[in-house]
Amino acid sequence: MSQIVNLPRSMYKNKHELFEQVFQAILKSGEDGVFQTEICKEFSLDSRDGSRLAGNLEKQSLISREKILHKGRWTYKLIVKKSAIAEYNRKPIQIECVEGAPCFSCAYQHSCSSEDEASPYSPAKCVWLEEWIVAGFEKGNMKNEK
Ligand code: SF4
Repeated sequence: MSQIVNLPRSMYKNKHELFEQVFQAILKSGEDGVFQTEICKEFSLDSRDGSRLAGNLEKQSLISREKILHKGRWTYKLIVKKSAIAEYNRKPIQIECVEGAPCFSCAYQHSCSSEDEASPYSPAKCVWLEEWIVAGFEKGNMKNEK
């Protein structure tokens, strides 16, 4: 699997930090949301990486993406979901809980969809995701047994 986001290394320690900062930026834009192109510009991401990162946030139900025509070009408006705002206000996102998730580096992410039933890739059918979740449970159980 390929690295999902080519980080501008001088700015971020790792992709989880970038992930957190992008989410914060979208969160700050409130109900109006922010254009994906603006996020790409702000975080020096190319459009492919910006799209994958936004896709990750969407898959985790943290944001919604609306396709929109802006200045003659199609882009997405990124809006934080109300449920995510409520959750975030309750406690900050635990980045550790998504650490190592296969979706971050999945080569099929662009065609993975939980809504398109014709897609061969979806979180519900994904063996990689299942393996990662099971491994997480096993790790958690081992911790609890100590
Ligand atoms: S659910 Fe599976 S197929 Fe879809 S992006 Fe994640 S790892 Fe890839």
